[in-house]
Amino acid sequence: TKVQVGLLFGGNSGEHEVSITSARAIIKALTCGSNMNKYDVKPFYIQKNGVWQTGEIPQQVLDSGFALQSQSSQVWNFPSTASDMDVWFPVVHGPNGEDGTIQGLLTLMQVPFVGSGVLGSAVGMDKIAMKTAFAQAGLPQVKYMTITQSNIGSNPCILPKLYDDIDKNLGYPCFVKPANLGSSVGITKVYERQGLKPALNKAASYNHRIIIEAGVIARELECAILGNANPRASVIGEINYNSEFYDYEAKYTYGHSQLIIPAKIDDIINQKVQKMALQAFAAVNALGLSRVDFFYLEDTKDILINEINTLPGFSPFSMYPQLWAHSGVAFPELLDILIQLALEKEFASK
Ligand code: ATP
Ligand code: MG
Ligand code: MG
Ligand code: MG
Repeated sequence: TKVQVGLLFGGNSGEHEVSITSARAIIKALTCGSNMNKYDVKPFYIQKNGVWQTGEIPQQVLDSGFALQSQSSQVWNFPSTASDMDVWFPVVHGPNGEDGTIQGLLTLMQVPFVGSGVLGSAVGMDKIAMKTAFAQAGLPQVKYMTITQSNIGSNPCILPKLYDDIDKNLGYPCFVKPANLGSSVGITKVYERQGLKPALNKAASYNHRIIIEAGVIARELECAILGNANPRASVIGEINYNSEFYDYEAKYTYGHSQLIIPAKIDDIINQKVQKMALQAFAAVNALGLSRVDFFYLEDTKDILINEINTLPGFSPFSMYPQLWAHSGVAFPELLDILIQLALEKEFASK
């Protein structure tokens, strides 16, 4: 009998559309070749308002590639067919998906699922918690400061003081980011003090936890990790883009960015990045898969870790599957390995 795979996609986040693209590719690769005889895939679609859809609707969304408009009168529901799944493949990026919420639900259901558990997902998604874990593991990072909306609200003098501290400690350009997002949503590159206020307001509109980082001029390298207790690191990829930074448009508009795999870097840098990626994976307690992003400062040969993504973009053109394809693991095989890792994790985590 085939393994019933629940493919969970969409979700209540700014990365809803990215999730649809990822899910389209995954269902295609799980329903062809040798995977076809192994897996029976049921798509479950989470609308932007959080309502779950089963039956025809998920397939329609996958076929069209477009999000379904949410009806405001709908209330959260949990489909009864969800309990028939043997394993789940959540491809929901960002808040309410990549951050431990779905992982908590699936853990309560006592069904194995692909990727990190509650802890790894939550620590990996929150840039403040993530950086704390990286610092603890001795991984070098850019200088940064953090602030929460309640800090701002509680003391009217805090903002001028924060601006002074940013001037003094981080300088410009700096990057203001909501702590819990992805796809560069809510991030501003700030060039002068006057730009801080709108950037902080923008970040605060997404999340009450905000991080401000010193900007570096660097090459951007990424490494993919696959495995549970003994994970392996892929070849390294590099990202090129024409914009001021690797923003949403550069990420998702055709021709605005290029992936270079393998990255043209020295062997020593290559090995260092792979080692740091594995350390980062362990530092946040990730499982299954992750993509770890780095800044490489060529002049000084410094490598700084930028972040980990525990549920990276998963279209066939995305960096994560491309890195594995160049490391000898083709897309359908990669999905097969991830599901097998999920099934084994049930025992490994005890
Ligand atoms: P992802 O889609 O990979 O999850 P994200 O939304 O988590 O991205 P980051 O990776 O933190 O966002 O930042 C997005 C991009 O902004 C980086 O790839 C880089 O181009 C630029 N950037 C972010 N922080 C810095 C920094 N401190 N110095 C220089 N560039 C930065
Ligand atoms: Mg990220
Ligand atoms: Mg991300
Ligand atoms: Mg990133």
